[in-house]
Amino acid sequence: MSESRLAAAPRADLPHLLGLDRSGLTALLQQWGESPFRASQVLQWVHQRQVDDVAYMSNISKTLRARLLAETRWDEPEVIADQLAQDGTRKWLLRLPDGNAIETVFIPEEDRGTLCISSQVGCSLACSFCATGAQGLNRNLASHEIIAQLRVARRHLGLDAITNVVFMGMGEPLLNLKQVIPVIRLLLDDFAYGLSARRVTVSTAGVLPGLEQLGRETPVNLAISLHASRDALRDELVPINRHYPLAELMTACRHYPLPPRRRITFEYVMLDGINDGDGDARALVRLLQGLPALVNLIPFNPFPGSPYRRSSTARIDAFREIVLRAGIMTVTRRPRGDDIAAACGQLAGQVRDGRRALVRMPAPSPELRP
Ligand code: SAH
Repeated sequence: MSESRLAAAPRADLPHLLGLDRSGLTALLQQWGESPFRASQVLQWVHQRQVDDVAYMSNISKTLRARLLAETRWDEPEVIADQLAQDGTRKWLLRLPDGNAIETVFIPEEDRGTLCISSQVGCSLACSFCATGAQGLNRNLASHEIIAQLRVARRHLGLDAITNVVFMGMGEPLLNLKQVIPVIRLLLDDFAYGLSARRVTVSTAGVLPGLEQLGRETPVNLAISLHASRDALRDELVPINRHYPLAELMTACRHYPLPPRRRITFEYVMLDGINDGDGDARALVRLLQGLPALVNLIPFNPFPGSPYRRSSTARIDAFREIVLRAGIMTVTRRPRGDDIAAACGQLAGQVRDGRRALVRMPAPSPELRP
C-alpha cells in the first residue's frame, strides 16, 4: 500500500484517529496486536507534530503506518470562513459533513494565545442574552470535531501559538462530557498538546451532574456562568437555573474538588438595568462569601435581535468596586473581536434546526456594534 496523503472521503465506519485519547488509542493498538507503548509515538505525530500523512511517522513500523492509513480516518471539517478582527482576534467557521458549521476563536494577548472552542452545534440552554442560545441545539460535537478546531488554528498560526484553551465557544460542554473529556485528556497529555491544567478552562451554565463528573475526572479550571445572584432573575437569564437553582449551584461549587491555589471563575454578563445595580453587586458578594472566587464581569455583546443593552462603563466600574471592596478578586473582560462577531456570546455558526432548515445568523449590523 502506498503511504499517500489521506483520502478525502474515508469510510464512515472507521474510527476517527483525531478523537482518540491515550486510552482509546491504546485499546485500538492492542486490538491490532501492537504494543500499547506505541500510543505515545502516534499521539506525538498526530497531535504534537500535527502531521497529516503517515509517511512522516519515521519511528513507526510500515505495518502500523499502513494500518493507520487503511483503518482509521482523520479527515477534518473544511474552513469556510477565516476572519481577522482589528484587535487581532481571529475566527474560523468550519463546515461539518452534515451541513452544520461551528465557530472557533483565537484571542491573542501579550503573554498568551487563547483558543475558544465549541463543544456543540448550537446549544439547548437558551440563555436569553446569548446568540448561540437563540439557535437551539442541533447536536453534540464528536471529540475529533472538537480537536479539529485546534488543528485548524495551529495550522494557521503555528504549532506554539495556542497556550490556553477555553470551552467557551458554542454549546454547553457539560452536556457533552462523553466527547469533551477525551479532548481534555488530549489537551493535557504531554505527548499530544501538553497544556498544564491551569491553562484549560471549562465554562458551564451550571449543569450539576456534569460538574461532579468534571471535578472527579479532570483537574482543569472551572468557570461558572452566573449572571445573576437571585433565582427569579437567573431563571429568566439562564433557564437551566430552574432545574439547578442558585443554592444547589453554590453548594456544588463549595464541594468542587479544586486543586490547591485555584479559584473558580464566576462570569457575570453586564446587562444595562437588568442585573447591574448596587444591590445586585451586594447580593453577588453574599453569594460568593467564603469561596475562592474570581469574578469576571463581561460587558454584554449585542447580536441581531438581542433584547439587552450593555451596561455603561461607569456602571461596570461601580459594580466592580463594590465586589472588590468585599475582598473578592474582580476583573472586567475586554470585549475582543466584536467587529467580526467573535466576542463572548456572539458565536452562531450555521445551525440546522429541527426541521433541517439552515438557520444562518446575519453578521451584526454596524449600529449594533458598541
Ligand atoms: N455554555 C457554557 C459555555 C459558553 S461560554 C456557559 O454557559 O458557560 C460563553 C460565555 O459567554 C458564558 O459565560 C456566557 O454566559 C457568556 N455570554 C453569552 N452570551 C453573551 C453575550 N451576548 N455577551 C457577553 N457574554 C455572553
